[in-house]
Amino acid sequence: MKINMSSPDLSDNDIQAVQDVLETRYLSLGPKTKSFEEKLAAYTGRQFGVSVNSGTSGLHLAVIAAGIGEGDLVITTPFSFVASANCMLFERAIPIFVDIDPETFNINPAQVAKAAFDLKQGGKAAETWLPPKIIESGMPLGKLKALLPVDAFGQPADFDPLQKVADKFDLKIIEDSCEALGAEYKGRKAGTLGDVGVFAFYPNKQMTTGEGGMLVTDREEWANLYRSLRNQGRDIFDAWLNHTRLGYNYRIDEMSAALGLSQLKRIEKLLTKRAQVAEWYTKRLEDIDGLKTPVIASTTSKMSWFVYVVRMTAELGRNQVMEHLKSRGIPSRPYFTPIHLQPFYTEKFGYQRGDYPETEAAGDQCLALPFSSLMTEDQVEFVCNALRKILGSD
Ligand SMILES: *Cc1c(COP(=O)(O)O)cnc(C)c1O
Repeated sequence: MKINMSSPDLSDNDIQAVQDVLETRYLSLGPKTKSFEEKLAAYTGRQFGVSVNSGTSGLHLAVIAAGIGEGDLVITTPFSFVASANCMLFERAIPIFVDIDPETFNINPAQVAKAAFDLKQGGKAAETWLPPKIIESGMPLGKLKALLPVDAFGQPADFDPLQKVADKFDLKIIEDSCEALGAEYKGRKAGTLGDVGVFAFYPNKQMTTGEGGMLVTDREEWANLYRSLRNQGRDIFDAWLNHTRLGYNYRIDEMSAALGLSQLKRIEKLLTKRAQVAEWYTKRLEDIDGLKTPVIASTTSKMSWFVYVVRMTAELGRNQVMEHLKSRGIPSRPYFTPIHLQPFYTEKFGYQRGDYPETEAAGDQCLALPFSSLMTEDQVEFVCNALRKILGSD
């Protein structure tokens, strides 16, 4: 049985939508982009949607517009895809990592509150949270400016206590909702839980544009700034070769936007199919000793399944389970490698194993199983039977 790690769900209509754009010869900055932005903003309930060419570009623009610059501090999670911390480095800001809740894998709000308090105090209190090499360097630090929580694996972070911290210390919240389109926290949609939300549409996400991303916000001045920054720093009133500020080429193209529009039309169907696949997995795996199925927090009123991640607790380690699955033709991935232990981060900031124990334990034990809306119940059964045999639960 052939099983893919992930797979985009493309209909005939999706393919036709892209082809139709090619026939218009109108390939960038056109009507599809505008319409995709309006429809996605409306889907989340935000006033403004600004599309970009990736989730990473979106995060970068969110950081710039929030006024985060050289030496500034931003509290974020080390258990994520590397882009959620890299976006600070692009602006020479410093990500301050705070450990996760081991059940949901999302940033721990109580620790965020403590970190914000200590960082505002400065001095010795602040040093418990700062990266070792930053302390050593004695470089002048900027201000604590923002929180950047990530909705891990499609489950919103615990935003109410995070908002309290933000209000108390006058911080912006940038929500990395790249894995959580359509998810809900206490009935509120992912992407709308902070001051700005960022989505990504890479082919393994809930919906795809090939490459692409979108910022959603209610702040008009930010939306205008995103539009300028993604388009070489041109302001709305600038002529084509006038550039008001340093900008980038982060534009999405019309083919991608058309694909996004077409996918968005059936987003609820795509999410329902993914939820069905997750349910098939959970039903078969929840009674197996040696692994733990995903935990859905009481604050998550709707899960948007991005990946299906189990936590291996058996004697047989996660990496060995991966090897065994591979020998049976089943792909799987370690999810995530903690950001603070990425070579670039250990070198630049001096992090070590032991710095964020919950994140490291999750990083050692978590395993993403093959997952997409196209998976059949037979395929799920095949993966689960293999896992059962590998773990000796038969
Ligand atoms: C996918 C993802 C991104 C960014 O994705 P791109 O590949 O740049 O579109 C950012 N953060 C998280 C948590 C992600 O999963």
